[in-house]
Amino acid sequence: MTLISIDGVSRRFGQVTALDSVGLDIRQGEFFALLGPSGCGKTTLLRILAGFEQPDSGSVLLDGADLLAVPPHRRPVNLMFQSYALFPHMSVERNVAYGLEREGLPRQEIRTRVGEVLETVGLAAQARRRPHELSGGQRQRVALARAIVKRPLLLLLDEPLSALDKKVRAEMQLELKRLQNEVGITFVVVTHDQEEAMSLADRIAVMRGGRVEQVDAPVDLYERPRTPFVADFVGANNLFEGRVTGGRFEVSGLGVLPAPVDGLEEGAGALLAIRPERVGLAPVSPAAPEEGEAGVLTGTVVDVSFYGGTSHVALTVPGHDGHVLVATQGPARVEAGVRVALSWDAADSALIPLGEIQTQ
Ligand code: ATP
Repeated sequence: MTLISIDGVSRRFGQVTALDSVGLDIRQGEFFALLGPSGCGKTTLLRILAGFEQPDSGSVLLDGADLLAVPPHRRPVNLMFQSYALFPHMSVERNVAYGLEREGLPRQEIRTRVGEVLETVGLAAQARRRPHELSGGQRQRVALARAIVKRPLLLLLDEPLSALDKKVRAEMQLELKRLQNEVGITFVVVTHDQEEAMSLADRIAVMRGGRVEQVDAPVDLYERPRTPFVADFVGANNLFEGRVTGGRFEVSGLGVLPAPVDGLEEGAGALLAIRPERVGLAPVSPAAPEEGEAGVLTGTVVDVSFYGGTSHVALTVPGHDGHVLVATQGPARVEAGVRVALSWDAADSALIPLGEIQTQ
């Protein structure tokens, strides 16, 4: 069921178009991420949902009713700020109780609800502490507790984990997911970190220059990017620009490459995207001719980086600008200077028609 329906929302600030006719449906109970580079309009959209900003045009419906006509404090929506904005002189439980006190709820009910929510976020033992007596991760939990204790229909989170160090961040990602599942509130998170969006969200909207380029589940976004920008922004990708010629995909300077050409017209320009972990690597004997027959492309290893579980191999391929990247499980059995043949299955790659931008 759709909870939020955003249609044709635009917002300009002087010469800058922060949002350009954005359309999105966010479902009830969903963990939804707005992902994109700095300045693409994520925060502006979040602020419109919270009521701190009005669009120049377009509509936003919540459960079918006009949300834009409702003042911010009357919306069943809560925004958790990047800075957490905790009151430093108040204990954890007072910080969490504050919003309910302002609503004038009975004291007993406040006590019960605050107790429950502190239990949910794992802070019952720290209820009497002040924010400065907590770790970064714990402060983040207080901010979350404060945001969910009011039982909003929609919780908006602006870069919720950006203030945390890497390890705590990974823990809090799990925690956020568990929490969202448990409380059943619809979460919309803004992030510029694609790994974070992929690990947290049920669906992701990738934004660029005020527009939505693609909305999909993380796996679909990763495996079937529909625009060159998404293919490049979401995870590492090897990109080859070419054309459908004689029913095959041909790249100038490289020749025919395996690609899923079905559905593309003869002569159509397209971008082939193949993930580093989908490319196979096989050494070629130094005596082999320049045009290796064993693989699709022949290249020379320029760098191998070992990350424990995986290795990243960078190669130069004559006729291709930049490096081709290959990821292997465990240590890569090649070294710099070695000539290798690269191969992949057409079904493992994605072919993105050029000039066609998906705006859903
Ligand atoms: P970031 O990740 O850096 O926060 P963002 O994707 O959230 O970026 P927005 O903050 O929504 O992007 O900004 C979109 C564009 O609108 C930017 O070019 C920004 O400079 C501009 N902008 C946003 N708010 C205002 C404002 N109040 N006045 C003028 N320009 C603004």
